[in-house]
Amino acid sequence: MSDTPAEQWGIYVHIPYCVRKCAYCDFVSSAASAAAVGEMADYAAALRAEILREAPPLRTRWGDAATLYLGGGTPTALPPPLLTEILRTLIDAAGMPQECSVEANPGTVDAAYLRQLRAAGATRLSIGVQSFDDRLLRSIGRIHTAQEARAAVRAARTAGFANISLDLMYGLPTQTLDDLKNSVGAALALAPEHISVYGLIVEEGTPFAAAAAAGRLVLPDEDAAEEMYDYLMETLPAHGYARYEISNFARAGHESRHNLGYWQSVPYLGVGAAAHGCIDGVRWGNEPDAQRYIRAVRMGQPVRRPEDPDRTETSAMEEYAFLALRTAAGIDAADFRRRFGMDAAAVYGAVIARYERQGLLRCADGRIALTPAGMKIGNEIFAAFLCDG
Ligand code: SF4
Repeated sequence: MSDTPAEQWGIYVHIPYCVRKCAYCDFVSSAASAAAVGEMADYAAALRAEILREAPPLRTRWGDAATLYLGGGTPTALPPPLLTEILRTLIDAAGMPQECSVEANPGTVDAAYLRQLRAAGATRLSIGVQSFDDRLLRSIGRIHTAQEARAAVRAARTAGFANISLDLMYGLPTQTLDDLKNSVGAALALAPEHISVYGLIVEEGTPFAAAAAAGRLVLPDEDAAEEMYDYLMETLPAHGYARYEISNFARAGHESRHNLGYWQSVPYLGVGAAAHGCIDGVRWGNEPDAQRYIRAVRMGQPVRRPEDPDRTETSAMEEYAFLALRTAAGIDAADFRRRFGMDAAAVYGAVIARYERQGLLRCADGRIALTPAGMKIGNEIFAAFLCDG
């Protein structure tokens, strides 16, 4: 892949702590116990050291980072002074970004905490609500109630956040379409700028996987889950939230710039345990264990593990294509040609023609994008782009 100058770059920071693990979650995070509070301070110090080591050279090369994103885990499981110190270090090292997102969980933030985050430079808050039904929230192991979720959104507004995203889930155990409608209604009533929706996936190694294996997990059947999906895809755009990526909806101008960067193959630095990064077409994942990560940073040892060492021009092209196809804008043919020196339409001619005929893909205005029907079976189409590329 040619070394194209980056118009922008971003930084992802991983905070691997949560108050308690949710029953469906396989993200790299551990429940924060009293004993972990000391570890959190060590972790924050290691993070700041990694940021100060890695971000300045990229700033020298490309200018200020366009986006910063603190995710997890639950960043707001950290005591406020630790999280605000990380934010300040980031902005000192990488410059003032156009967007600085922090993931937060209701039940971990109040107005005072959010005011401090805003003062430290956070501009966007992504709140993990998942549902406004207390029974469902309990059943999936969330630590908060619907009322606490509403309170978190109000506190964020009071603290000055003008850009708020809410996460919702569907296909939860025993969830009905009416349950989902109630949650969507409650979310819309809070008028967030952005909404992400995720269907439950039972991931290996989670309490939900064990419950499913024991026949104790009652999930909506396929038809019910499809009805929920169709309802979301119709309702959110009807309320002014355009679908700009398979799972993401936003009011005009409030798309997540950072996440769009991932799908548009913008370079990003990943810092922290288990964080992933991709710079100059080289992907890596950091040491996933928080304690080992802290020790390695302290001793000045490398924390990165290369991913995909057998990467080829073809696999880079495939990755670019399937990431871009997740977005409503799709593959930008001119950008593809600039990066790879080839026409996407020539590389993927057969697969494009097949899905275009079926109404699942469209080529127009220099872009190749999935139609709404195509997005519904996105994984199947992405696989075709991998195999036929
Ligand atoms: S709060 Fe988020 S990261 Fe933490 S356990 Fe729950 S789903 Fe996973």
